[in-house]
Amino acid sequence: MVTSSALRPQASLLTVLLGACLLLLPVTPARAAGVEPLPTREIARGIHVHQGSHHAWSAHDGEDVANIGFIVGARCVAVIDTGGSPAIGARLKAAIERVTTLPVCYVINTHMHPDHVLGNAALKTGDPGQAFIAHVRLGPSLSARAPYYLEAFHRDGGAALAPDAVVYPTQTVTERTFIDLGDRKLELRAWPTAHTDNDLTVFDQETGTLFTGDLLFMGHLPVIDGQLRGWLHVIGELKALDVKRAVPGHGTVTDDLRQAIVPEETYLSTVLREVRAAIKAGVPIARTLDQLSATGTAGWQLADEFHRRNLTAAYAELEWED
Ligand SMILES: [Zn+2]
Repeated sequence: MVTSSALRPQASLLTVLLGACLLLLPVTPARAAGVEPLPTREIARGIHVHQGSHHAWSAHDGEDVANIGFIVGARCVAVIDTGGSPAIGARLKAAIERVTTLPVCYVINTHMHPDHVLGNAALKTGDPGQAFIAHVRLGPSLSARAPYYLEAFHRDGGAALAPDAVVYPTQTVTERTFIDLGDRKLELRAWPTAHTDNDLTVFDQETGTLFTGDLLFMGHLPVIDGQLRGWLHVIGELKALDVKRAVPGHGTVTDDLRQAIVPEETYLSTVLREVRAAIKAGVPIARTLDQLSATGTAGWQLADEFHRRNLTAAYAELEWED
């Protein structure tokens, strides 16, 4: 029989050892707070991607719809888009902390849509060395939409978000900018109006990886919120780029951008051709929407949510062209 007094010295030694071990364990504050890290996959050295699901953005089933990435350098981390709610942003932060203890020095937004920017606040450290970077036109465009986004999020069952849940860029890109994470450089490129008027791509030179934002949709029907003709022009430029792999805004990572972008190009070209023909034939917009209600949508998800809206946008754009 072992008496309790015999255990006491061992128990106290054990306590000391345990305490020492705990001190040596890496601290993961997000886990301690019970935040489940977003699942991510390392698609190339130091490049981690979380793939969103194909839903329309909303606080109900639609917070986690956009793809999100982060790139770990020798000095610090760059985040590319932050998800559709502060909760997704917090889960992204936990995913980063699982991989590295380096700070997030850049938060890059590929455009102003809420499924890509509403997680920003969770990544904000207040450190003056941290920058939020976006296309020069993101700020004004997001500012115009933010009240609607916050209202929609609340209406769909989400928390009432304070206006400061929307975090604006502290640094902007007008054409091209390079940022340095220590041992790797990223090229940020601002594009003419396409999916939106503030599309930005991120290219990692070391691995040849391009984050396209929503300039590339795969599986999820492309959504026109900028200019249809401009987007088709940008697609032509994207196809000419020499990249090893691309991370779309929605859909799976691809090692063949040129092929992967063809379905989107086909859909947008079809909308352009058919809507232009309807306008030339004098078909009013309501009848055009009915006649083209399924045109070009085969094989795409979320056509019910977005196709009519695309036709409307295309009609408005093309109605006054020469
Ligand atoms: Zn978008």
